[in-house]
Amino acid sequence: MSTLETQGLGKVYGDFVALAPTDLKVEKGEFLTLLGPSGSGKTTLLSLIAGLAEADSGRILMNDRDVTHAAPYQRDIGMMFQNYALFPHMTIAENIAFPLKMRGTPAAEIKRLVQEALDMVRLPHIADRFPKELSGGQQQRVALARCTIYRPSVILMDEPLGALDKKLRDQMQFEILRIHKEIGGTIVYVTHDQEEAMTMSDRICLMNGGRIAQLGSPADLYFRPQSLFVADFLGEANLLEGRLVSGADGEGVVRLGDASEIRVTLPRPLDHGAAVKVMLRPQNIRLEDTPGEGLNARLRSWSVTGASTKFFLDAPALGSEPLIATRATAMSHDAPEPGRDYRLSFDPRDAVAIPADEAA
Ligand code: ATP
Repeated sequence: MSTLETQGLGKVYGDFVALAPTDLKVEKGEFLTLLGPSGSGKTTLLSLIAGLAEADSGRILMNDRDVTHAAPYQRDIGMMFQNYALFPHMTIAENIAFPLKMRGTPAAEIKRLVQEALDMVRLPHIADRFPKELSGGQQQRVALARCTIYRPSVILMDEPLGALDKKLRDQMQFEILRIHKEIGGTIVYVTHDQEEAMTMSDRICLMNGGRIAQLGSPADLYFRPQSLFVADFLGEANLLEGRLVSGADGEGVVRLGDASEIRVTLPRPLDHGAAVKVMLRPQNIRLEDTPGEGLNARLRSWSVTGASTKFFLDAPALGSEPLIATRATAMSHDAPEPGRDYRLSFDPRDAVAIPADEAA
């Protein structure tokens, strides 16, 4: 059952289309992330759902109720934003209690719920303090307590961790997931950080130019991108140019520029002869020591990036861009000489053919 649904929801500013008519269904209890580059329409979509901006087309349904023209407070939503500051003149308890007060909850009940919320975000002893006495991370925990306290059916979060440093961010990601599990609500989360989206989401809605580029599980988008944009946005991708020679039932053969042929996966059916790019993630390419049949490449350079070591290779099948292959960094590995030749091997399930002539 979907908690939240948009039907042809769109927004224009003058003649600029910030959000093209968009259909999206968010399931009950789901953690859905709107991911995309700056200006792709994530915040626009979230603001329309929140009722902070007026739609130019389409409808918004919440639990099958049309809320397209309802005020924000009539929508059964909670909100948490990067800069959605706490009220500075109110104590932490008063801040968290605010949504309940607005709804006329009795005082004794408020007191109990506020303490419960503080316990949940692991800040049991700060009820009487003021926001300026808390760290940025603590303030975001309080904001989290405030937006979940009345158990709205949908919680909207717009880059809530954007202002925190990396370590605190990782901790808060974990906290948000824990609380999501505990209260069982539906979350729509905005970020432009693909790692954060992959870590947290049940599904990712990847946006580009005011449209949904692809909607699916993190693994779906990462391993079965349907366009070059998706392949590229989700992480490093090698793209080998070629033509589809044959293909059926999700598998095919691609002839590369140097006439070698490789077996590939087809996330969607393509015509024989179609120009394709074959996506290979760097960690899915194995470097065999002895060159031979198939794809060969010559080492240009390598560098240790921490947990993994990156190899930059020249391959005739690739053109001028170097191919990138990674493997886990280990002291036991030799330092190879540039100029050395390798044979490349990979599982055909990791070689994904994508139409070459598609922008979005
Ligand atoms: P970011 O990650 O930078 O916040 P975003 O994906 O959230 O980006 P939106 O804020 O939804 O992007 O903006 C989408 C497009 O609509 C942008 O090109 C933006 O400039 C434009 N836009 C947003 N609000 C307005 C406005 N009030 N007036 C005119 N154009 C706007």
